[in-house]
Amino acid sequence: MPDLIKPFEIMHSARISREEVDCVRSALEDVLELFGVYYQTNICERRDLIDTIEDEISKNMTGLGLEYGNQMDYFEFLEGLRKKGVLTEKKYGIVIVDKDLCWKDNKENLDPLFIIGGYYEYGNYLRAIAISPVRLKGYADEKELIKTNGFHEIGHLLNAADGRTGKTLEGRKVIDHCGNEDMMTQYDFIPDSVIELTEKRLESGKIYCDTCIREIKDYLKCK
Ligand SMILES: [Zn+2]
Ligand SMILES: [Zn+2]
Repeated sequence: MPDLIKPFEIMHSARISREEVDCVRSALEDVLELFGVYYQTNICERRDLIDTIEDEISKNMTGLGLEYGNQMDYFEFLEGLRKKGVLTEKKYGIVIVDKDLCWKDNKENLDPLFIIGGYYEYGNYLRAIAISPVRLKGYADEKELIKTNGFHEIGHLLNAADGRTGKTLEGRKVIDHCGNEDMMTQYDFIPDSVIELTEKRLESGKIYCDTCIREIKDYLKCK
């Protein structure tokens, strides 16, 4: 019998459309079907908290004179949600925001690797991802692009390419992705075009490679 895992809660800001939420939900359903697990999904709009934290962090980030306006540090953002009790260890959090997401090493050094989405872990129990459709808007295959990035971040949420090897490049920590052709395909740094990267993932024609499937299966087994 398949494992029963914690419920997934998809939370989004009021500025995210129903269609965008559906792309992420559809990715989640495909993944869980692939692994044959029972699950529960709740979807809720958290206008009260998500929009407020988004705006607050965005304001601070813009104040740093960044190359891209409208950016947000996803660790800081998800940490804000954890402190407010929105993200808890009782569920997997999937948060969809309408700001660029980034990872900053410190106030000066921004790593723009994660502008589409990011993964967050607190202790060994609280896991959440953030996904942003901002950079994918206006493309003909926008929905497919959002879904593809959903597969990538959900893969991380379920332990694929979790970066524990601690590889560094040019003095910066990078997530060690599988390097195979699947939705976890990732360059070490952001490519000139996120569309190029996403289309490369789509061309692979599969959600996860054997390595990623094994990592996810191992993880699900112990839940
Ligand atoms: Zn990744
Ligand atoms: Zn893989």
